[in-house]
Amino acid sequence: MTDKNRPFGFEIDVEAGRLARFDHHYQRRLSDLRGVFTDRSAFERAIASGDPVVYEVYELYRPQVAGELLHGLSVVHPGQIGTEFYMTIGHFHAVRETAEVYYCLKGRGLMLMENEEGTWASEEFLPGRVVYVPPRWAHRSINLSLDQDLVTLFVYPGHAGHDYGTIEQRGFRKLVLRNNGSLSIVDNPAWAGANVER
Ligand code: MN
Repeated sequence: MTDKNRPFGFEIDVEAGRLARFDHHYQRRLSDLRGVFTDRSAFERAIASGDPVVYEVYELYRPQVAGELLHGLSVVHPGQIGTEFYMTIGHFHAVRETAEVYYCLKGRGLMLMENEEGTWASEEFLPGRVVYVPPRWAHRSINLSLDQDLVTLFVYPGHAGHDYGTIEQRGFRKLVLRNNGSLSIVDNPAWAGANVER
């Protein structure tokens, strides 16, 4: 038995996108991301032809209380659904006044963010680059590479919790698209924020 109150350290296998030590690992398959992608027929076709793993998370167990820092590794695999890239579902923190730090170890991507006041932002993920997500900003990791994983280390307060429902209902304001090899960030025509009762 390890004592969870003892200091510890661990290695990250960046190439493999794995932690040498973790307590919990989960995968999100495409079928877990219903409603995330705009192109519904491309989405259904990809599920029918094997329901690929879109992303994986490795977490170390820490108590979910203020004062602790929850941390782990996020691995978004490469791929496209229609003109969109593989990405995470995205979330607000249940406790809005909690921030998060991401450190990119491998790959190329974007953190897409928005707040409830109507502002959006994006920050580039490149190896060695840090992205700071301030309190109150929803965040989604997008893999812009079509041939390698996007691997990031994340650290956030123990009591933050996750609110996936708000994003599931409304989506993000912006879509990140790849058309004929070039990238664009456009308004999401299906964004439902204006219609959601607050
Ligand atoms: Mn978060």
